Amino acid sequence: MSKNKRKLLLLPGDGIGPEVVRETKKIIEWLNKNKSLDFHIDEELIGGASIDVHKIPITDEVFYKSLECDAVILGACGGPKWDNLEFSKKPERALLKLRKELKLFANLRPAICFKQLVDSSTLKPEIVSGLDIMIVRELTGGIYFGEPRGIQPIKNNERRGINTHSYTTSEIQRIARVAFELAKKRKNKVTSVEKSNVMEAGILWREEVQSLRDKEYKKVNLEHMLADNCGMQLLRNPKQFDVILADNLFGDMLSDEAAMLTGSLGLLPSASLGAKDKNGKIRSLYEPVHGSAPDIAGKNIANPIATILSLSMALRYSLDLDKEADLLDKAVQSVLDEDLRTKDIMLPGKKLVSTAAMGDAIISKLK
Ligand code: NAD
Repeated sequence: MSKNKRKLLLLPGDGIGPEVVRETKKIIEWLNKNKSLDFHIDEELIGGASIDVHKIPITDEVFYKSLECDAVILGACGGPKWDNLEFSKKPERALLKLRKELKLFANLRPAICFKQLVDSSTLKPEIVSGLDIMIVRELTGGIYFGEPRGIQPIKNNERRGINTHSYTTSEIQRIARVAFELAKKRKNKVTSVEKSNVMEAGILWREEVQSLRDKEYKKVNLEHMLADNCGMQLLRNPKQFDVILADNLFGDMLSDEAAMLTGSLGLLPSASLGAKDKNGKIRSLYEPVHGSAPDIAGKNIANPIATILSLSMALRYSLDLDKEADLLDKAVQSVLDEDLRTKDIMLPGKKLVSTAAMGDAIISKLK
């Protein structure tokens, strides 16, 4: 296979998933044609769309394709049509299976506030304008997976709910390494977040992150911050942050908080990265932060930018194509500069465009 021949697996899924992935596919095809890239594009069913045809949310065939490709780009899974299925059969199970089996331990969520959209944020423009944070969340450990867990009956007709928050040195250092590597390509600063004031696991987290930094990343600036303070600082002065490193629980909350600083769900991409396979390839899944938005599905009004920027992350983190990623990011900026807006980010005086028209406009800027 030539150096440029990469395999991309597109999993549009449900609701607006097919609409936003269709625009992303158009961009991949444009890159193939005009940048002499030779992406092999495969497209498969996942979630409710797969249940309707195969009775299961992801088939073995699709699952194995996801193991073999260079990057998976997913739209969204789920919707009211499948809400009454039992938990183990729901469309979202496909996504959980992919995350687990691809061992996607690092979730990367940029929170970027485009200058053209500062008025969409609930915070004052001067607080969020130019905001560019990367949240690195540990995805496969911590309290969501720790044992023992469960709900137990205890005395006097009471019950006790138990979850265990636990991390090992290697789990902490594996995710910290991702944060340090990213910081080197950005503003060279990592803020590591925990609750070392009240949790032993937090003390270990702080010590192991510091020790890795002192051994391997001496030039990266590292600060430690308590998670509750970080939540407050994100609202007070978010631009102080570059890369925020957090465990599964704190990362879950802080990334949603940071997302809302930017104003619109339709603009937020994400990447989930896994361990290297035997050929040194990092398994990866790229998807918009939003869901399947059944309320607007099929109307050609969804914002495709979050998925298109997820492709940009795939170009950067899985395909070693930084130049093409920069080109795509700039094309998105240019259409926003020209005041083109899908309905979710529409403001008076701007030009309303459809999902497909937004995709076409971005392609015209690539040219
Ligand atoms: P949602 O993100 O789908 O929608 C929330 C709101 O944001 C809706 O009003 C929607 O119209 C709007 N919105 C979302 N994306 C948009 C876009 N690209 N352009 C314009 N507007 C957009 O969240 P929800 O309503 O809580 O969930 C709907 C379904 O999606 C559920 O079945 C849920 O389980 C599923 N879901 C899937 C994923 C995933 O596949 N990763 C993530 C979240 C939710």
